[in-house]
Amino acid sequence: MVSSLLSLSLLGSPALAAESPKAAAKSSEAARAEAARLTSAFLGDTPLLRDLQSLVDEVGGRATGSPANLRSVDWALARFREAGVEARKEAFQMPGLWLERSASASVRGAGVDYSPRIAAMPFSTATPRGGMTAPLLDVGKGTEKDFQALGQKAKGAFLLVDTAELKDVDGLFREYAEAAEIEQRAFAAGVAGVVYVGSRPNNLLYRHNVSVGLRNTRPMMVMERDGALRAQRLLRVGKTLTLTADIDVQSGPAYESYNVIGEIRGSTRPDEVVVLGAHLDSWDLGTGALDNGANVVALIDVARQMKRLGIKPARTVRFALWNGEEQGMYGSAGYTQSHEAELDKHVMAASFDIGCGRITGFFTGGRPELPPLVDRALEPVKGLGPFTQVDVPLVGTDNFDFMLHGVPNLVANQEPALYGPNYHARSDELDKCDPQQLRLNTAIAAAIAYGFAQMDAKLPRQSRAQVEELVRTTDLGQQMKSSGQYDDWMSGKRGRKGNTSAGPATR
Ligand SMILES: [Zn+2]
Repeated sequence: MVSSLLSLSLLGSPALAAESPKAAAKSSEAARAEAARLTSAFLGDTPLLRDLQSLVDEVGGRATGSPANLRSVDWALARFREAGVEARKEAFQMPGLWLERSASASVRGAGVDYSPRIAAMPFSTATPRGGMTAPLLDVGKGTEKDFQALGQKAKGAFLLVDTAELKDVDGLFREYAEAAEIEQRAFAAGVAGVVYVGSRPNNLLYRHNVSVGLRNTRPMMVMERDGALRAQRLLRVGKTLTLTADIDVQSGPAYESYNVIGEIRGSTRPDEVVVLGAHLDSWDLGTGALDNGANVVALIDVARQMKRLGIKPARTVRFALWNGEEQGMYGSAGYTQSHEAELDKHVMAASFDIGCGRITGFFTGGRPELPPLVDRALEPVKGLGPFTQVDVPLVGTDNFDFMLHGVPNLVANQEPALYGPNYHARSDELDKCDPQQLRLNTAIAAAIAYGFAQMDAKLPRQSRAQVEELVRTTDLGQQMKSSGQYDDWMSGKRGRKGNTSAGPATR
């Protein structure tokens, strides 16, 4: 995950406000005791794991736009309200509906006829009823050279793209980055569609977005690894093959979806807001235990225990269960739009989205003033460390739009554990989550929530010019390009508006 990220230049200047030392000292002692009370609560028998089982086994896979996703919204509202936590759903716009109804394929040639399983990639087009048949060609790894070798033959063909077996999160990020380039080449070559060799062992199917998102105009799919490698071997000994792909999708125009926001109101600075977020939606092949049910139930339990223990931090804490994350982080983007007037008062927005592995620290988004504040917030759970903050900006989860709006943002950095191999896959089920570790992670999330809601320090929101500098001086721009977010930022569709030249922030 981090290996592809460049180092940062220092940005902005710290402006830490502090109250009078005497008042701070007194409240900090009480705060320490309260933080200890809160963070130790998760070692008891809280409903955390029962919640996770209920969300993944009862509600199930919950792709945004599906009936299960709507059930998950009601489910989350009910969990907050049963705990006495004030909660609401907030509408936002999804740019379009995409759900797979069915997908199948047949590979045929002289003496060859078999039907490997496929999964349509999100934003794949449907094929005509009965399927679409085209030559199946081997394009190797899909490099520039591979495409040159195919030349004109690529036009109108399905291209089979080789992949390395996925081992870890690094491999996953490599997969994403490479796919964007491969698909660009494929579209330029006028292919009928793209077929990725499934990168997971045991013929596991999974969903990856087509890199151009809703602008895609072709059938796009992942084929189970063994069946795809069989086709590749046949092609490499000179067989002529065709692929018939039969993909049925439910698609539609923009529609309304909902985030669920639970709120613990601040006692002395209620207009200042700390956001802890985890996305409620998942893909639909599995039931989304690691991605991201585990972190959803963690945040619900933090809210629940705060309420139960009567803990009222200085600032307001919002527990945001985002929707539409998998399609492009639309729920958190929608929140930053509908709450734009409040964003100057948003002290910090944290994202939890890397499964059940141990939290090793936080990505702090390229704001050198932030890591020391995270260290301070983590004091009460120091024994669960060591924690290391990594000060780089990350694209790929719901901190992103906060970052583009200049709000200090965090992403929990977690040991990948079983996250990588099961990512967006059929196998993302309850048994992949380590329940003890999830409890400890929840204590860490609670420390972050309470710490930032209580500490006197507060970083200023960055101006558009400062965010632009971050994009320019780190690999943030490159990450945004390969995930299809760059144009929306440049056009002002996403992120903070305002003066683009360096200067004072416009309000
Ligand atoms: Zn996720």
